[in-house]
Amino acid sequence: MKIAIIGFGAAAIGFIERAKKQHIEIHVFEKSKDIYSSSISGIRADGKLFVSKEMGGELDVDLELQKQLVDFWISKTENNSVETGHSFSNQKYYKSFYSKGFLPIHSDFYHLGTDQLKEVLYNIFEEYKQHKNIHFHFNSEVKEISVSEGKVTLNGDQEFEKVVVAVGRSGHKLVKTIIAKHPELIVDSSKVDLGIRFELPNHIVEDLNREMYEFKIKFKSRTGYMVRTFCNNPSGYVVPENYGDFITVNGHSKLKEKSKNTNFAILTTVQLTEPFNDPIGYGSHIAKLTNILAGKKVILQTYSHFKDSKRTKKLYRVLPTLADSEYILGDINLAYPRRLIESIIDFIENLNEVVPGIANPDNLIYAPEIKFYSNTLDNEKFENLKFIGDCSGYTRSIIYATAHGHIMAEKLIAK
Ligand SMILES: Cc1cc2nc3c(=O)[nH]c(=O)nc-3n(C[C@H](O)[C@H](O)[C@H](O)COP(=O)(O)OP(=O)(O)OC[C@H]3O[C@@H](n4cnc5c(N)ncnc54)[C@H](O)[C@@H]3O)c2cc1C
Repeated sequence: MKIAIIGFGAAAIGFIERAKKQHIEIHVFEKSKDIYSSSISGIRADGKLFVSKEMGGELDVDLELQKQLVDFWISKTENNSVETGHSFSNQKYYKSFYSKGFLPIHSDFYHLGTDQLKEVLYNIFEEYKQHKNIHFHFNSEVKEISVSEGKVTLNGDQEFEKVVVAVGRSGHKLVKTIIAKHPELIVDSSKVDLGIRFELPNHIVEDLNREMYEFKIKFKSRTGYMVRTFCNNPSGYVVPENYGDFITVNGHSKLKEKSKNTNFAILTTVQLTEPFNDPIGYGSHIAKLTNILAGKKVILQTYSHFKDSKRTKKLYRVLPTLADSEYILGDINLAYPRRLIESIIDFIENLNEVVPGIANPDNLIYAPEIKFYSNTLDNEKFENLKFIGDCSGYTRSIIYATAHGHIMAEKLIAK
């Protein structure tokens, strides 16, 4: 069997790892110019792996397989170096958050660190290169896929028996062209996560960081929206994320170089009903509006000014880890819907009851932080064209994407 995998990210790696010893000719098409070239993805920035049934994707992945895949990633580091933590296995923390209305999420964390990821990816690639049945094609963006009985054609001229699309969220252009031809592939398209990135001194959350590495909680705010923490980075850095026509913020941390601050996202999932069908459009417009106010940059504001809707003109004790050239001090209230702002404030004020110092007036808020969901796609529609990882809409994390690749490979091999 001759299979093409489009994209060389977490999902493709999960697929190849499971399929590499089978009698299958695998061709990997990756748009980056080589294995070193960066693209926006968690296997190139931060690399926080987690084992949890309560987050990471809409796929049923048993904990044993998740742990097995975590071990696979860790085995590609030098001397198995990772930072670890366990979210809410400690009942003392569980009870203190629960008593204030929070829903604590159970998870085990393993942090590889941005600085180590390059090597990890390189080690995986070097190993796969040794296999005679695996062929890499870098600098090969797939722009068009057409499906017909018995074969799938890439870019109009390369034919394969099966094609597995694993282009992540950065491959939305390709997925859009496929959906334009086959709109019936879309099973769901209604959600977007909007919020802010919060930054504060390490010492306020150092016990939580030490115990859990990442504290994952949800909270039903008084607006009715569920609000949650996401992507906690102890001693980390806030970074811009360039989507081409707008800029958002994100966070990451390194294994060796440490900052004095912790950052995490505070997100709400906005899920709307018909006739709404454009969550990406909605999120992008809010991001662009925020950027317009800040001259195509992100906005930074202190928490008290965010709460009182005043423009921040000066910072006090907390110094941002985002480079000065990347932000403008301003007022996020001029760009964000009120319901979103109220939900975030309610979350922070309540969190301050459990973790004193969270609501300090000079803690920092960055916007826009947006997490797009891909459309959820129907993987039963075509026998010979499958979607795995984040582009399929079923995953949102490295381990779930790797698992999706693994499960899909088993399914195709069995056939
Ligand atoms: C900045 C950032 C940090 C993150 N941090 C974490 C984290 O710490 N932990 C975690 O669990 N998750 C994290 N995530 C999410 C995680 O990266 C994804 O869930 C995961 O990588 C999805 O795997 P994937 O294989 O579906 O896509 P990706 O890993 O994104 O891989 C897709 C690949 O396809 C290539 N590609 C795209 N379009 C084409 C095309 N048309 N032709 C050929 N190639 C193409 C891309 O260049 C890319 O290499 C992060 C995401 C971002 C953006």
